[in-house]
Amino acid sequence: PLGTLEPMPGAATHCPYCALQCGMDLRGDGDLVHVAPRATGDNPPGLCQKGWTAAELLTSNERLTTPTIDGEPTTWERALAHITQRIQQIQHQHGPDAVAILGGGGLTNEKAYALGKFARVVLGTKNIDYNGRFCMSSAAAAGIKAFGLDRGLPFPMADIASAEAILLVGSNVAETMPPFVHHLSTMQSNGGALIVVDPRRTPTAKRATLHLQLTPGTDLALAQGLLHLAIVEGYVDRDYIGARTEGFAEVHPIAMAYWPERVERITGVPVSQQRKAIRILHDAGNALVLTARGAEQHAKGVDTVSAFVNLALALGLPGTEGNRYGCLTGQGNGQGGREHGQKADQLPGYRKLDDPKAREHVAKVWGVDPADLPMPGVSAYELLDALGQPNGPRALLVFGTNPVVSAPRAKHVEERLKSLDLLVVADLVQSETAAIADVVLPTAQWAEEEGTTTNLEGRVIRRRRLRPPPPKVRTDLEILAGLAESLGKGDKISADPRRTFEELGRASAGGIADYAGISYERLDRDGGVFWPCPTKDHPGTPRMFHDGFATPNGRARFVPVEYRPAVEDVDSTYPVYLTTGRVLAHYQSGAQTRRIPSLRRAAPDPFVELHPQLAGRHGIEDGDEVRVVSRRGEATAPARITDTIRTDTAFMPFHWSGAGRANTLTNPALDPTSKMPEFKVCAVRLEKVAP
Ligand code: SF4
Repeated sequence: PLGTLEPMPGAATHCPYCALQCGMDLRGDGDLVHVAPRATGDNPPGLCQKGWTAAELLTSNERLTTPTIDGEPTTWERALAHITQRIQQIQHQHGPDAVAILGGGGLTNEKAYALGKFARVVLGTKNIDYNGRFCMSSAAAAGIKAFGLDRGLPFPMADIASAEAILLVGSNVAETMPPFVHHLSTMQSNGGALIVVDPRRTPTAKRATLHLQLTPGTDLALAQGLLHLAIVEGYVDRDYIGARTEGFAEVHPIAMAYWPERVERITGVPVSQQRKAIRILHDAGNALVLTARGAEQHAKGVDTVSAFVNLALALGLPGTEGNRYGCLTGQGNGQGGREHGQKADQLPGYRKLDDPKAREHVAKVWGVDPADLPMPGVSAYELLDALGQPNGPRALLVFGTNPVVSAPRAKHVEERLKSLDLLVVADLVQSETAAIADVVLPTAQWAEEEGTTTNLEGRVIRRRRLRPPPPKVRTDLEILAGLAESLGKGDKISADPRRTFEELGRASAGGIADYAGISYERLDRDGGVFWPCPTKDHPGTPRMFHDGFATPNGRARFVPVEYRPAVEDVDSTYPVYLTTGRVLAHYQSGAQTRRIPSLRRAAPDPFVELHPQLAGRHGIEDGDEVRVVSRRGEATAPARITDTIRTDTAFMPFHWSGAGRANTLTNPALDPTSKMPEFKVCAVRLEKVAP
C-alpha cells in the first residue's frame, strides 16, 4: 500500500531513455525502487516497458563501480592523473586537436554544455562531436533551411490529437515510444486518418488507414510525387504560399517531373495509394506531417526531409493552428543535446561556431578571448574515421555513447578506436566501447544526479536525484570538473548542475535556443518550460511560427531538391536492401537495456527479418542462421520470417554487438550537409549458414 511507501525518499523525474521523456515518480530505498508514471504538462501518464524497468539498472551487479586503467581497478586520483598526463603528452607532441571528444544525445543539457566548453576552453581542441549526428542532424539542417530554426516539434504533443490526418514518415512509434501512440489513438478515434510511410508493416503501420510500403531509400521520390499530385489536383494552398513562403516557383517545375507512374517505378508505391494519400491529406481540415529517422538516416537525408517540408508548405500547413509539421526526435535529450555546443560546429544557444558575434558572446560568458576558441571540427563519423590516422586525433574521450555498436561500418570504427594512444570511456556499464578503453570511468545514473533535458516538444524539464551514486561512482560533471582542475583550468567547469545550468542560460541568451529565463526554481514550479524563453517573466514558447517563421523575412522557404538513388543500390552481387531499426524492448546500442533481465528475456538476440518469398529463394526457414554480407563485412543472426516486410528487403535491429552487430554492415556514406550516415539502406546478400 502506498502509505507504507511514504517515508521513503522520492523523486519526480523523467525516464532516462527516449525523447518522449515520460514523467515518472521514483520512490524507494535500497534495492527496491518503485516506478510510477506521471503526467508531464498536458501529456498523460504512461511508460513503456523500458521506462517501467529503468530503475533495475541502479542496483544491477553489471554496473561499473570503480575506475580502471588497462582493466585494473584504480582510484579516481590515479585515473584522473593518468588521463591528464597522457592528454598533456599527446597535445604537447601532436597539438591540441590531437585530443577529441565524442558526446551523446542522452546527456543532460548541463553535460552537453559542459562537454562543449571543456573541449574548446580546457582542451582547446576543435575535435568534438556527438552521436546525435547519427540521429537528428538531417532534420535539424532541413528545419533550419525551411523555418530558420530547428525545434523537433514546434508545438506541444497534445496538439497532435486534434489533427484530422497525419502523414508519419519513417517512424515506428508503437515500438520506439509507445506512450506517443496515445496521441495517434485519440486522433484516430476522433475520425482522423493515419498514413504511415515505412518499408515494413510495423506495429505502427498496422494501425494506419493507409500504409505506403516503399523501397528503402526512396522517401524523397515519394514526397516529390505527393507534391506533384497536390499541384495537378489543385490541392496546393495558393493563399498560404503567397503570404507565408518563398521559393515555390523553383520547386514547382521539379515536382512536375515526378508523375505518379514514375514515382511508382522508383518507390514501389502504387499510383492508387499515392492518390489516396494526397486526397486524405487535402480533405483533412487539419493535416499534420511528421518525419523521423526513416526519412533522415540517408546520405540524402536533408533533402528528403526538405521534400516533405515542401509538401507540408504546399498544403499550407506549417505555422498554422495545430502547427502541422514536426520531426520526432529520438534520443532522450536529442533536442537539448544539439543546442548547447557538443556539436562540431556549434556554440550554446544553437549558435554557429564560425559566427564572430556568437564567438564574442560565448567567449565573454566563458571568460576567454574569442580568438582562442577553436574553429569547427569534423562530424562524428569523420572524426571516428580519422582516429589514430596521420594528422588525426590520438586520444578520444567518450561520454554517453557506444560507437562500437552504434556507428556505421562499426568494425572499421572499432579498429580505429583500438589504434588510439588513449581511449577514455565514461559510462555506467561496461559497454562494448568501454571494453576496449584504456581508462574506464564509472558514472552516475539518471536517478543519482540532478539536471535537465529538453524533450521532443522543446519542453525543458527536470531530472531529479532519488539517491546518491555508489561511493566510487561520479557524475559526468564531476569527471569533467576534476579533469579541468588537473589540467589547470579548474575555474572553467563546475561539478554543480544548477550552476552549470545558470551559466548555460547566460551563454544561450540571445541565441535561437534561448534558455536565459529558465531556472531550476521555475522548472520545479511550472513542471516544464518551452524554449525560447529569454527572460524570467517570459511565458516560454509552446507554439512557434504562428506570427512568422524564424527566417530574416519571416517566410518559410521551399527548398528545391531532386531524388537520387541510395548510394549503394542493389546489384547482382548484393541483391537485397538492408534497413535497420529498433525493437520495443531495447534502446539504442542496448548497453543499458540488454542488462535488464526482463528486457533481455523479451528480446534476447538479434534477428534478420525476411519475407517468406525472399527467404524461400535462399532456402532459409524461420530460425535458420543467416549470414548477411555487405561491402563492409558480415553479420549473422537467426531468420525471422514475416510477410510484413517487402520482398526485396531485409531488416536487422541495431541493438546488439558480436556476430549480430547490424552496424558492421551499414554504409558510412554521409549526407553532404548534415553528415548523417546512410544507416537506413545498404545493399547486402544473404547466405544460409550450414547447421
Ligand atoms: Fe517513455 Fe521513451 Fe522511456 Fe518508454 S523509453 S518510458 S517511451 S521515455
